[in-house]
Amino acid sequence: FEIREPKNEPVKSYAPGTPERKELKKELERQKSQVIEIPAIIGGKEVKTGRTEDVNIPHNHSHKLATVHLCGEKEVDMAIESALEARKKWAAMPWEHRVSIFKKAADLLSGPWRYKMNAATMLGQSKTAYQSEIDAIAELADFFRFNAYYLTEIYKDQPYSPDGMWNRSEYRPLEGFVFAVTPFNFSSIAVNLPTAPALCGNVSLWKPATTSVYSSYFAMQMLKEAGLPDGVINFLPGHGADVGNPAINSEHLSGLHFTGSTGTFQHLWKSIADNIKKYRTYPRIVGETGGKDFIFAHKSADVDAVVIAALRAAYEYQGQKCSAASRMYLPESIWPEFKKKFTEEVGKIKMGEAEDFRNFMTAVIDQKAFDSITEYIDYAKESDDAEILIGGGYDDSEGYFIEPTLVQAHDPKFKTMEEEIFGPVLTVYVYEDDKFDETLELCDTTSPYALTGAIFSQDRYALNKMAEYLNQAAGNFYINDKPTAAVVNQQPFGGARKSGTNDKAGSAANLMRWISVRSIKESQ
Ligand code: GLU
Repeated sequence: FEIREPKNEPVKSYAPGTPERKELKKELERQKSQVIEIPAIIGGKEVKTGRTEDVNIPHNHSHKLATVHLCGEKEVDMAIESALEARKKWAAMPWEHRVSIFKKAADLLSGPWRYKMNAATMLGQSKTAYQSEIDAIAELADFFRFNAYYLTEIYKDQPYSPDGMWNRSEYRPLEGFVFAVTPFNFSSIAVNLPTAPALCGNVSLWKPATTSVYSSYFAMQMLKEAGLPDGVINFLPGHGADVGNPAINSEHLSGLHFTGSTGTFQHLWKSIADNIKKYRTYPRIVGETGGKDFIFAHKSADVDAVVIAALRAAYEYQGQKCSAASRMYLPESIWPEFKKKFTEEVGKIKMGEAEDFRNFMTAVIDQKAFDSITEYIDYAKESDDAEILIGGGYDDSEGYFIEPTLVQAHDPKFKTMEEEIFGPVLTVYVYEDDKFDETLELCDTTSPYALTGAIFSQDRYALNKMAEYLNQAAGNFYINDKPTAAVVNQQPFGGARKSGTNDKAGSAANLMRWISVRSIKESQ
C-alpha cells in the first residue's frame, strides 16, 4: 500500500453572507445555551470522579460552558490498565486500519464536525472564527492526513537484501504507553500529541490543559465517531501533578509527548530521570516549550511588510502562540515611519467577544494569564528603561481583556525583551543603523529560546548575514514574513535550545520517536 501525498485542508473565510458563517453562528448559540458535563474517558467508559471544576468562557467569564471531572492517581492507574489491554489488539492491527480511522477523523472535521470543533475552540479558548478555523479544523485535519502519509513513507524504507537472505525492518510501536500533556493554545496540537503516537500503534494517556478541556472533549467524541477503539486514547482531565505524577511513576511509561511551559517540561524530564531504573524501556521524550520569538529588520526592509507582520504575529490570538513575535529590533532609519504606520494599524484593531466576527482580538485564557501579563505591563510602565507607546490598558471585569501593547525598551536586555510573556505585548528595541552586527549578536544571545524568528530586508547580503548570525536562534526561521502560522507539510514546526527537542510536529521525524524498529535477518 501507498498513500498519495494529500493536500492541505482548505480554510474557510467566514466572511459576511457565507453559508459557513451562518452555520457557525447557529452552533455557537447551541453550545452557549447548554452546560455540559465533561467526564474522564477510560477504556471507552465515561468516568465521573465527583471532584469537579467549572469551565467558563474566557471573554465572558460569568458564562459557564461545562463542569469537568478531575482525575487523580486512581483514574490514572485505571487508564494505564485499560491502555495496556487495548494495546494488545491495537499494536497488532494492520496499519491501514489505523490510518483509516484518522483519515475518517479528518473527513469528519472538514464535514459534520467542522462547526462543532470550531465553536468549541472559539468559546473554550477565546479564539476568533478564523484563528479557530486554521487551528482546530485545518491544522488538525492536516495532522491526521499528513501523519498517515508520512507513516507509510517510513514503512517503505527497507534495508538491502543480498542473495540468500531477506532483511527487513519492522516498524513497531513502543512498549507501554505514551503520556501526552497538551497546551491550551492550539486544539490541533492538543489532539496531535496523543493521536500521532496512536497512529503508529501506541496507546496513550492524554492530560489536556484544564483551560482547553472543552474542545479536547469534543475531539474525543469525534475520534470515537471515527472508529477509534476504546482504551487506545484515555482522556484524563486534571491538574498537573495529580495526573502527571502517577503517569510518570509508572514502569510502563514509554514516552512523553509534551507541549507547554519550559518549567513543566523540565520538571517532567527530571522526574523521568529520577525514575529511570524503574522503567522497562527508556522513555522517549519529545517536547515543545517556550519561545521569545523575534522580528529583526535591516534598514533596507519594506516597512509596510514589517508593520503587518509585527501586528499579526504579536496580536493574533492575543499573542498566545508559542510562535508569537514578542521582541523586535528595528533600525533608527525606519523607526519613525514604522511607528507612525504601526500605531495607525493597531488603532484599527477591534477587541471583544469571539462570537462577534468583526473582532480581531478577544480575551486571554484565564485569570492567571491575565495577572502575569499585566504584571509585565505594569513593570514596563514603572521603569525608566522603557516606555509604553501603544496600549497598556486591561480590564478583567467581564473577560480577561488586555489591549495590544507596544513597549519601547531603551535597554536591549530589558525584562520584556528577555522573558516569555505569552500575551499581546511586543517590545521594540531601536538600534543605530551602523550597529547592525552587534544588534544581531544581541538578538542571538538575549533569550535562552530558539523557536521562531523573522528577518526583513530587501538586500540579499544583509539577509545572508542575518541568517548566518541567527542560524541557531530559531527552529522556524522566516525571511520577509511573520514568524507565526506554520502550515503542516509546508513549514514543519518546532524549536531547539530551551524551546524544545525540535522533533517537528507533523513530520516523519516526529513519528519515528513513537516507533521502535526491529531489524530482521532471515537466511534462505
Ligand atoms: N504552529 C503554530 C504557529 O506556527 C504555533 C504553535 C504553538 O503555539 O505551539 O504559529
